[in-house]
Amino acid sequence: MMGKKVAVLGAGVMGRGITHVCAAGGFDVTMYDIESALLEKSIDTIASNLQKGVTLGKLEAAERTAALQRIKYSTDLAKATAEVDLVIEAIPEDLELKQKVFSELDKLCLAHTIFASNTSSMSITEIASVVGKPERTIGLHFFNPVHMMKLVEIVCGLETSEKTFKNCEEMCRKMGKITVKINEFPGFVTTRINALIGNEAFNMLQEGLGSPEDIDMAVKLGLNHPMGPFEMVDLVGLDTRLNILQYLHKTLGDKYRPAPLMVKYVKAGRLGRKVGKGIYDYKEKQVK
Ligand code: NAD
Repeated sequence: MMGKKVAVLGAGVMGRGITHVCAAGGFDVTMYDIESALLEKSIDTIASNLQKGVTLGKLEAAERTAALQRIKYSTDLAKATAEVDLVIEAIPEDLELKQKVFSELDKLCLAHTIFASNTSSMSITEIASVVGKPERTIGLHFFNPVHMMKLVEIVCGLETSEKTFKNCEEMCRKMGKITVKINEFPGFVTTRINALIGNEAFNMLQEGLGSPEDIDMAVKLGLNHPMGPFEMVDLVGLDTRLNILQYLHKTLGDKYRPAPLMVKYVKAGRLGRKVGKGIYDYKEKQVK
């Protein structure tokens, strides 16, 4: 039977979007973060994105109000997760951190609660290895911006049960998503391809092939991609992309070695849209 209550861990780029689609899909959702300031900021982001939906005629004003009323915010992990049917983790892409949080969930949640990770690349089997019931652990890979992107890659680890998969498939459908079933391998489908394209764009910039604007334009108009690789990495976050590449490099080999220029940008704190500056400067410059 499909669950009704969800907890989302992490109030960052992805956690906010996942909370939005859960609430809009009719689920009672509690958003948890260690930083209360980020939770407060999330309320505004979600309210404003739902409002855009009303303006565009995608939902009624009353549906927006009802969705906002279904969301609770908490900095207490035990309270946020005690009664939920599904936990969706969207904290930073760091295996040790994710495992630490999942092992805590094991002690806090109901026996039937499904543990999902929004990891972009990491092994669900490895994350699940710290959990008492790995058959209830799964990957739900949402895309950014979550309220606009249709796909969820549902990633099954070695021990994930068919019942867990079916439950998640049904819940994602209720959130308005289309799903694909992926058998776990580092980077799944989309992250592997995207990481290579994005990394190659940094290598090209480093080699002086062209400006970021021209490389983005070439990929958009020549390959029919909706976004250029630099627009995309600014949206994803350069630190998130670097973590992913480092993990794929370690697990799948040299093809995924991060471009030194990307490492330099991350060291400089140019992490993308979330800080106002990445490849492009969002404070001063209108991106083409
Ligand atoms: P982010 O840096 O924007 O947000 C992470 C949030 O987690 C922050 O609000 C932080 O305060 C919080 N946090 C840190 N430690 C925590 C803890 N112990 N408990 C609870 N909250 C904690 O990151 P993001 O871009 O939203 O990425 C989150 C996950 O989603 C990562 O695994 C990432 O790979 C994946 N993902 C990201 C994208 C993307 O485009 N950014 C797309 C798909 C998947």
